[in-house]
Amino acid sequence: MRQSGRSTDVDSLATGLARDRFPLLARTIGDRPLHYLDTAATSQKPEAVLAALAHFYRHQNANVHRGLNTLAEEATEAYERCRRRVAGWVGAPDAAGVVITRGATSSLNLLAHGLEHLLLPGDEILLTEMEHHANLVPWQMLARRRGLQLRFIPVRDDGELDLDRLPELLGERTRVVSLVHASNVLGTVNPVAEVADRSRQRGILTVVDAAQSAGHLPLDFAAVGADFLVFSAHKAYGPMGLGFLVARPEALERLEPLEGGGEMIEWVDLESSTWAEVPRRFEAGTPNVAAAAAFPAAIDLIEELGAPAIRRHEAAVTAYALDCLQDLGGLTIYGPADSERRGGLVSFWDPLVHPHDLSTILDRHGVVVRAGHHCAQPLHRRLGVPATTRASFGLYTRRDDIDALIEGIRDARKVFAR
Ligand code: PLP
Repeated sequence: MRQSGRSTDVDSLATGLARDRFPLLARTIGDRPLHYLDTAATSQKPEAVLAALAHFYRHQNANVHRGLNTLAEEATEAYERCRRRVAGWVGAPDAAGVVITRGATSSLNLLAHGLEHLLLPGDEILLTEMEHHANLVPWQMLARRRGLQLRFIPVRDDGELDLDRLPELLGERTRVVSLVHASNVLGTVNPVAEVADRSRQRGILTVVDAAQSAGHLPLDFAAVGADFLVFSAHKAYGPMGLGFLVARPEALERLEPLEGGGEMIEWVDLESSTWAEVPRRFEAGTPNVAAAAAFPAAIDLIEELGAPAIRRHEAAVTAYALDCLQDLGGLTIYGPADSERRGGLVSFWDPLVHPHDLSTILDRHGVVVRAGHHCAQPLHRRLGVPATTRASFGLYTRRDDIDALIEGIRDARKVFAR
């Protein structure tokens, strides 16, 4: 076992935080213990979330906002409680500004559609070269429909955004800036508050994709200062099929709904309809009530451990992983060298073993990583590699997970050196 400078300062490195509350982490892969290093794809779920999901289906299972009966009232209360809990957790000024969606991707599509009527041909949307496809393709679709220009903040070789270019990129026609808080490939934590501030001074709307930061970095809507913040529950220890769009209610008023149907209306005639108040205007159809009923249990855990402690732990794991990977030699490691400047993940390229082969061999060691372009093809083109291997961490990650990763890479290199 390695002893590494900064990383040994954090006791939790040996044990993880609250690891025993995550039942899946006790399973094996073949005869090996599981080393789950794919939290950026989806986090594991604590027992309390699993219990809350089961509780909903065992005891409530009713649609929301529809029935005047005990089950429907309890289901509606659980659903609305989630909205209030999320608002409190991320410091949203008003629960009426929290739209419950299917995930970060749905939230971004909702936004790209919802803002369309405010934009004119020739207007510009500013993104970055490090965006996940979820924060790229919806804007491309909008640009195609509306005749808009997309512009991009470049990524520097050190994995940081080149913000020196911002004055020239924030032009007369820029209407929206949408950027990721913590990159799912580079790990870079972007200065979103600074970008939001500089955009606001010019009357430009800002969107922050917090898919990789919610549950991992302290997140405060007011401190970020963006108009819109989006994230998914499943990367923050909650269930799949649930996400959020957080805004001030007045900002939501400016959006057109994307989906029409039940629940989002006030009055319907055969020829036309009027919309319900925000945020329900954006919640057509039956939502994932069970997931919403269960997510507060994940927030409880995050708040019990404390966002700063989770951040400290994940930064320590990242520092340890960076040290170990660097010591292996021969790898190209992407993103900022300083673990304080990045979220809890490391992506790398090993010229000796393709990421797909590496991930297959790591699986034999019980080590689960992600190999590929991680839904960021333009960024990989910018990095000059077709794919990377990504190890990503959560509050439960331990030092032995990283040690197993390193042992697995050594083994893969032996196999491919033959
Ligand atoms: N944005 C970022 C930075 C992501 O990493 C992801 C998922 O990996 C998404 C958006 C999309 O999240 P979801 O698939 O939960 O909608």
